[in-house]
Amino acid sequence: MFKKILVANRGEIALRIQRACRELGVKAVMVYSEADKEAKYVKLAEEAVCIGPAASPLSYLNMPAIISAAEVTDAEAIHPGYGFLSENADFAERVEKSGFQFIGPSPDSIRIMGDKVSAKQSMIRAGVPCVPGSEGELPDDPVQIRRIAKSVGYPVIIKAAGGGGGRGMRVVHTEAALINAVQMTKAEAGAAFGNPAVYMEKFLQNPRHIEIQILADKHKNAVYLGERDCSMQRRHQKVIEEAPAPGVPRKLIEKIGERCVAACKKINYRGAGTFEFLYENGEFYFIEMNTRVQVEHPVTEWVTGIDIVKTQIMVAAGEKLPFTQRQIQIRGHAIECRVNAEDPFKFTPSPGRITSWHMPGGPGVRVDSHAYNNYFVPPNYDSMIGKLIVHGDTREQALARMQTALAETVIEGINTNIPLHRELMVDAKFMQGGTNIHYLEHWLSQHKR
Ligand code: ADP
Repeated sequence: MFKKILVANRGEIALRIQRACRELGVKAVMVYSEADKEAKYVKLAEEAVCIGPAASPLSYLNMPAIISAAEVTDAEAIHPGYGFLSENADFAERVEKSGFQFIGPSPDSIRIMGDKVSAKQSMIRAGVPCVPGSEGELPDDPVQIRRIAKSVGYPVIIKAAGGGGGRGMRVVHTEAALINAVQMTKAEAGAAFGNPAVYMEKFLQNPRHIEIQILADKHKNAVYLGERDCSMQRRHQKVIEEAPAPGVPRKLIEKIGERCVAACKKINYRGAGTFEFLYENGEFYFIEMNTRVQVEHPVTEWVTGIDIVKTQIMVAAGEKLPFTQRQIQIRGHAIECRVNAEDPFKFTPSPGRITSWHMPGGPGVRVDSHAYNNYFVPPNYDSMIGKLIVHGDTREQALARMQTALAETVIEGINTNIPLHRELMVDAKFMQGGTNIHYLEHWLSQHKR
């Protein structure tokens, strides 16, 4: 096992990794920008290195600063968390070339999965079902583009090969709008992701977003840890996640889970990863793979009893997965609410000083947050300030626990989306389970205040 790991991230995930290190008896070096001096994990750290000013390109995206922080502290490995450099193949490569272990898959795996066109092609080869669409990147010729759209069938969605975070997508309903939409998406993709390549998929009308968590080691072992339902989204960004997915037959999950495991073995994948699918009319369609730990990993940890972050570290150190597929059982139901510093219904960011902070407790309640009473939420980063996770024997019990937990939660001084979560947790359709990816947007558009 490593003696010391550098945590190259911020926010709740930095704290989550620090906690995993403590449990493993591994020292954790925290890095921070000038805006994050006050974060809980920095205060709790045995060692912390300032890597630059608030702006992420100068700190959390600054590869030389992060690698030299690992050098001066004698860390052996670097955990990238999620976001920032976690899915940057060049970073993973530089980490390894500098003599550190990257806690994640190989640079090659990241590169293949980071380009959604090559990811899809490798999944088709590995026998994972994908959304019907263009075979690879769209050509420039408008005649050919029209022909592809016709054979896929309208509506279609134009997606950037290098896209992420819900950006770089455009739905097209008619041939008249097609070419213009392709050109606009290409231009945006070039500017935002440095890669103008786009591809086309059938736009599924009412799917759910269901994803499969996997873990793999360096000894050709891989397992899947069941599924998560992340259909409650706004602007393609997840707001609430749960496990298991309500109403999806276990047999179907097993079938798709086994496909994912087979694909991992085929591409020599190692570490934690997530296969994201759209699910419609009993069928799974692969959309992309995330080659890192995800925000919503705690719901899976709770229903399986497996610590995903600890396992990431163990397999990066060369250990074998300590469990087999047969030992993985799904127990009860878990729900996660992302807590964001923003107006609950208008979504304008709300950074600033937290003047009062009371988090809920009791059976089946977990809070992952780097914030605390009197903490200043910096305006420079993502608005997520923590996650509230509950577990129950049944979905009904989990819902009741989340309702209680949200009622106990007090955050003052800034706006948060806690009032939104309170309303959603008593919404009849959500309580029934199985809402699709458009449900929350639709709900918000009808919402009266
Ligand atoms: P990102 O990497 O930006 O998260 P994804 O490919 O994972 O992009 O898609 C994000 C979300 O966009 C999905 O969860 C879904 O809500 C929507 N989406 C993507 N592809 C399709 C499609 N073919 N049909 C319908 N919705 C889609």
